[in-house]
Amino acid sequence: MTTAPARLPSGLAETLLELQEQSPLLVALFDARDVLCHANPAFREAYCVEPDGLLTWADMMRDNHAHGRGALIETEDIEAWISAVSNRRGKLPYRAFEVDLCDGRWLWVTETVQAQGWMLLVASDITNLRQDNRSLRLAHVRALAAAQTDPLTGLSNRRHGMQMLQDVLSRSEPWPLCIAVLDLDHFKAINDGLGHAAGDRVLCDFARQLQASIRREDGCARIGGEEFLLILPATGAPQAQAIMERLQDRVRKARPLEGPADPASRGYTCSIGLTQAIWGESANTLLARADTALYQAKAEGRDRIFLAD
Ligand code: GH3
Ligand code: MG
Ligand code: MG
Repeated sequence: MTTAPARLPSGLAETLLELQEQSPLLVALFDARDVLCHANPAFREAYCVEPDGLLTWADMMRDNHAHGRGALIETEDIEAWISAVSNRRGKLPYRAFEVDLCDGRWLWVTETVQAQGWMLLVASDITNLRQDNRSLRLAHVRALAAAQTDPLTGLSNRRHGMQMLQDVLSRSEPWPLCIAVLDLDHFKAINDGLGHAAGDRVLCDFARQLQASIRREDGCARIGGEEFLLILPATGAPQAQAIMERLQDRVRKARPLEGPADPASRGYTCSIGLTQAIWGESANTLLARADTALYQAKAEGRDRIFLAD
């Protein structure tokens, strides 16, 4: 004889909310723009978040780093650290990893992302679990992250950029899909006129402008000296073009060289080759089409977007 399954409580959502409020599990919900929209007391306590504060994940990390509380963030350059972590955050439907807190606790964090970009974070305290091989595991995770990251800008490097491109092309949900190849204009003149360090400042500034212009699910890599790749899942050509126009506006206004290094306060510009992916084409073919579009943008005078057929 089988027994009937227990009936779900009628106020299921309320029950869930009530239980997560009292659970030692850390529970948090981020929207598509990475704003923390909900966090239970365990999460707020661990990451030192005020009950009503609406803040982004990046702001939360800046606060934790500045005050030496919450997440243990060992870096001197928090913006580069945020870039590097953003390369892995919210790109897959699910992932799990370890996190250290400043107070010595150790968490197992899971992130589940739905198609509209909402992210559920659930974490548990695993400090008391066996610590065997922990340093080996952490070393492995850090080596993997370093192998995927461009050290100057904190963006993904070429290898990780191509890997992200192959991954996204093999999935069924991110269509339509656009990519852009972006190249700084007359960058050699900045290097030659103001020195390599000034050139590096411009590259880092461009990386910040790129990241400020894209969504969490977008991929962003430095694939050459002054050449960058942008992957825009679930984005048609008109929307991608609008995103690129906004980016170009930001870049035209940026003045990373302001100061004694550049009395003329010169700005910089970029050219963009944009293309919509075709179902079934390889990452290399797609990239080659975007490159051809970039070449056209350069040929037509630079500081512009060329959309491939
Ligand atoms: P175009 O508008 O046609 O793209 O001209 P460009 O001067 O930007 O292009 P070109 O390919 O002639 O020069 C790119 C320069 O980028 C040459 C190289 O020295 C410089 N570069 C490459 N990597 C780095 C880097 O990591 N830091 C700095 N400061 N410069 C770099
Ligand atoms: Mg260039
Ligand atoms: Mg170039």
